[in-house]
Amino acid sequence: MASLPRPVWNDVLGQVRCTHPQLVRGWFNQLSISGFAGGVLTVQTSNDAQTRYLKGHCQKAFNEAAQASTGRLVAIEFETGQTPAPEPPVHRGEVRDLNGDFTFENFVAGPANRLAHAAAKAIADAPGHVYNPLFLHGGVGLGKTHLTQAICHEIVTRRPDAVCQYVPCDMFTSDFIEAIEQGALHEFRYHYDRVDVLVVDDVQFLTARERSQEEFFHLYNRLTMSKRQIVLSADCSPAEIPSLADRLVSRFQSGLVALMEPPCLDTRIAIVQAKARVRCIELPPEVARLIARRVASNVRDLEGALIKIDALSHAHERPIDVALALLALGDAPSSPVSVTAIMQAVARRMNVKVPDLQGRKRVKAVSQPRHLCMYLARELTDQSLEEIGGYFGGRDHTTVLHAHRAIAAALDTNDALRTTIEELMAEVRDAR
Ligand code: ADP
Ligand code: MG
Repeated sequence: MASLPRPVWNDVLGQVRCTHPQLVRGWFNQLSISGFAGGVLTVQTSNDAQTRYLKGHCQKAFNEAAQASTGRLVAIEFETGQTPAPEPPVHRGEVRDLNGDFTFENFVAGPANRLAHAAAKAIADAPGHVYNPLFLHGGVGLGKTHLTQAICHEIVTRRPDAVCQYVPCDMFTSDFIEAIEQGALHEFRYHYDRVDVLVVDDVQFLTARERSQEEFFHLYNRLTMSKRQIVLSADCSPAEIPSLADRLVSRFQSGLVALMEPPCLDTRIAIVQAKARVRCIELPPEVARLIARRVASNVRDLEGALIKIDALSHAHERPIDVALALLALGDAPSSPVSVTAIMQAVARRMNVKVPDLQGRKRVKAVSQPRHLCMYLARELTDQSLEEIGGYFGGRDHTTVLHAHRAIAAALDTNDALRTTIEELMAEVRDAR
């Protein structure tokens, strides 16, 4: 058998990662070469599911990458290994389909997710010994899944013997129901009782069935009693999860609860750049800035914008620049709202002076309108927390974050405040 050196295979994998990132799975790292003859490279997988996936979705991508890497006519064939490595008694993190890109290395920390990021790192350093549980919450597409999976990647890399289970909550509940139906509850419990680290993503879905809650409650107790690490994520705080039993709410609150907020402009720029690096996209800084300014809602949309621009660049066979980005993203929105306009509108409406809003006075008559300004600045402008703080006497980003949070929380119960804010928003938008 002619041999194809390992570095060439690494090169082939690298190419597929860059040209077809959406096809790549965490377990690709475990693929190995089992033969090379007659221009055909045989790649061995660990199980039939992997072979099916590769043959069904990745054949063309691998063939092209192999031909490009070797300069020879090489075709790739996938086969399931004859003597697969003994299965671990329970799924390890990488087996249960972790996204290979969701690592700490690819995660950009910023003011809006700093606490969550630091806590996740601390847990990866010492699982079971710092915050237990860690509960991350925040809106869609703000990095909860990314960060919880990063914990798994890190722990599994550092301690290959650790059993790290990542599971989306709906999968936990459907596995549980299936176990009941098939009379396999014992196996189900045995499986989860053996983990060192349990990550359950989107636990707001735990509420759908009472029996799943009950099962999870007992599992939770067994694991935490023996100092195993639990990490949870949800789209809201524990107390806000509808019909979650009080005993679970109090347990979820008993470790560290960290909110993940929409990233500020600077972080968004850094994220777009990080995504471009992972996808091997050549992205000029001014285009990264343009994307980050345009898309403020969530990080998944940022990535979507990047992919759209990249696709257009391939279609037009021209490198990415501002003109191409504008073509991909459509016309620019009308001129942005300014923080100054917000301050003026709030000052008029609440009968305060702009210099007082910017000053140090802490009486409620001034501090509340100031908080309102900060809230509106965050909602309506692209300015970073630091930049917004700059308009208000150089206050730091945490002050702005707290002000935003306080107003956002008050909005839930205070209808008059909601009306005031809606009117102020309309006013400053109209004044552009
Ligand atoms: P959520 O689980 O909160 O809905 P995800 O973790 O799925 O969000 O994140 C959506 C996308 O945004 C993913 O591609 C993820 O990698 C990316 N993302 C979110 N936050 C960050 C960040 N701070 N740095 C890098 N990528 C991020
Ligand atoms: Mg998620």
